[in-house]
Amino acid sequence: MSRETIFVTRSSMPSYEEYIEAIKPLWESHWLTNMGRYHSELEEKLKEYLKVPELSLMVNGHMSLELTIQAMGFPEGAEVITTPFTFISTTHAIVRNRLKPVFCDVKPEDGTIDETKLEELITEHTAAIIPVHVYGNVCNVEEIQRIADKYSLKVIYDAAHAFGVTYRERGIGSYGDASVFSFHATKVFHTIEGGAASFSDHRIYEKLYNLKNFGIRGEELVTEVGANAKLNEFCAVMGLCNLKHIEESIAQRRALCEEYEKELKDIPGIRMFEKKQGVKRNYGYFPILVEEEYPLSRDELYERLKEQGIHTRKYFYPLTSDQACFKNKYRDTELKCARKLSEKVLVMPLYQGFEMRKLAEVIEIIRDVFV
Ligand SMILES: *Cc1c(COP(=O)(O)O)cnc(C)c1O
Repeated sequence: MSRETIFVTRSSMPSYEEYIEAIKPLWESHWLTNMGRYHSELEEKLKEYLKVPELSLMVNGHMSLELTIQAMGFPEGAEVITTPFTFISTTHAIVRNRLKPVFCDVKPEDGTIDETKLEELITEHTAAIIPVHVYGNVCNVEEIQRIADKYSLKVIYDAAHAFGVTYRERGIGSYGDASVFSFHATKVFHTIEGGAASFSDHRIYEKLYNLKNFGIRGEELVTEVGANAKLNEFCAVMGLCNLKHIEESIAQRRALCEEYEKELKDIPGIRMFEKKQGVKRNYGYFPILVEEEYPLSRDELYERLKEQGIHTRKYFYPLTSDQACFKNKYRDTELKCARKLSEKVLVMPLYQGFEMRKLAEVIEIIRDVFV
């Protein structure tokens, strides 16, 4: 039997006409990058949409994180407590800043950093905590802040999955000292490639403006070892177009997630992450956990679906701490729960335009193993 291939994700796009119309002025201005008009416009619009006081646009999520860490000015070799249950970018950004990641375990109910294990990992060398709102699941921001305040640590959230998420009516990017978003083509909102950092201290805006433009201060003055992380105008326009349709896009994702939930919740051995009170979600991902009671292992289910042309993702497996470039290099910590989750998790196909008919096919295969 040959089915139509089902991919795990697909980029949202405005109509061709809408985008073409929107980029026309670039042929008049010839201003294609270096903090142009659309760069400023998108920064303003995103500040409002994300409910954050300050925001700096960047070329991608990774550089947003790397430069935000640099902007904090931590001493070389300082320790940063973080989660290994994330995309490799989070750990890379720490190590590329010559800091040492200290991996903290996560919680089984939502995959976010286990705040009860933070204090035991803090030493005199600890400078910051970098948690991740993984799949848009909101970390225990109150407790993390309490601990950070107690030990004078900075908190930078990797909010790459949490675009538009609010917690207790506040934009998710307004928690901690800074938060970082990714606008990569596969994310809920995208600028093809792109990203941003949000924060409340205006001095960080100045610092990042400088760092994303080679550290250049004046025609003949370079004050910092910066990088090139500027978002170009074509990407900014893509963002402005996509932002107009974001509510519709999230509504579609929501309907799909609710259907998955309804159909999967009674299948023995298929578990879903818990939802936190007070969170407005963005329905960016639909991860399931394949537990022992299910007749197949996670890897077997992954293969079974793949044989039928359905692509899912072991997202996140392996843990970043187990990757060849990091294994056995940093402080050895207990990561029992994170390891278990990474062996059970499977992210289901989900994107704007994914048809319910196809979703039903995915469900059928997951169910079929019982008959
Ligand atoms: C996507 C992602 C990033 C990196 O963002 P890019 O825009 O791809 O550079 C960082 N962290 C997490 C958790 C991500 O999912």
